[in-house]
Amino acid sequence: MNKLIDKFGRQITYLRISITEHCNFKCFYCRDDEHIPNCKREDILSYEDIQKIVRIFSELGISKVRLTGGEPLLRRGIVKIANLISSIPGITDMPLSTNAQLLEKFAPKLYANGVNRVNISIDSLIPARFKEITRGGNVHEVINGIDAAIKAGMHPIKINAVAMRGINDDEIESLIDFAIKKGIDIRFIETMPIGAAGIKSFTQHMSEKDILARIEKHLKGRLTPIIPSQTDGPASNYKINNTNSSVGVISAVSNHFCQACNRIRLTAKGELILCLGQEDSISLKDAVRSDLSDNEIKQLIVNAINKKPEKHEFNSSIDNISNRQMVEIGG
Ligand code: SAM
Ligand code: SF4
Repeated sequence: MNKLIDKFGRQITYLRISITEHCNFKCFYCRDDEHIPNCKREDILSYEDIQKIVRIFSELGISKVRLTGGEPLLRRGIVKIANLISSIPGITDMPLSTNAQLLEKFAPKLYANGVNRVNISIDSLIPARFKEITRGGNVHEVINGIDAAIKAGMHPIKINAVAMRGINDDEIESLIDFAIKKGIDIRFIETMPIGAAGIKSFTQHMSEKDILARIEKHLKGRLTPIIPSQTDGPASNYKINNTNSSVGVISAVSNHFCQACNRIRLTAKGELILCLGQEDSISLKDAVRSDLSDNEIKQLIVNAINKKPEKHEFNSSIDNISNRQMVEIGG
């Protein structure tokens, strides 16, 4: 029992941990305006819970752990959590997903404590529009956060923009130019119909094909496809010739990359989610706080992995999609 292989032969090596449900933004495609995290302190995984769960997962072959949220930089003790996780033998990669509003303050400390790379969400460079999409965010602070991550030495740095028709699709080109100027990578994300907010904003969905057509027109003759690795996930990526940047589209809706899925998700409340598009979960919080032995917890995880579905069902029916909000799942 030292590897997690599901019944479709996929080895699970990547765990995404949402370390808080709180967020300082309210991106309209991610969470309802009135969403208030419904949890007391004891409901949330403690440092010790997180450390124990990740250690057990590393013994089962997990090598990559992403810190996400909500907004992970709002979690008290984020630097300590980063340190605890990156010190676990077998964890070799610990990226962070953040909206970067607080990254200017945290980047050097996080880098020193094992956060080697970062994905930063930025959907618009226009201050008023950015504020509208995030319902209150300040794009200048986010750009300061990006600069701080570059200065701290995090690499690679990717900016992620959800491409939305009629909302920010006129900025595809300027966001690419921004990434090139900063020498960092950019990915456009297809809107996913997850939770009430995601389902509502699905009317603005842009397909991978449409996004790629715009990228290709803007960067005519300057794109070299990057051969996908087994673990690239749902993204098609291109090197932008004669720059330090790459561009790609994360198309979880247009494309099923489920056959190569190597990931599972853990919520801040300790629920292990096997697939973004299905309801199934088990409580690892209850398991690590019980008197179960490590081997018994491992068996529980192995049994759960056996329930990982073959693929999500975004395309056939949105009724299958979890009622959880993205802000709870962590993207
Ligand atoms: N707060 C951090 C951030 O914004 O990067 C981390 C958590 S956020 C839930 C992770 C990613 O999920 C972000 O890149 C965000 O754009 C994406 N996301 C949220 N709701 C989405 C939706 N309905 N469709 C596609 N992407 C979504
Ligand atoms: Fe917060 Fe990230 Fe969701 Fe925006 S996408 S509301 S920043 S969790």
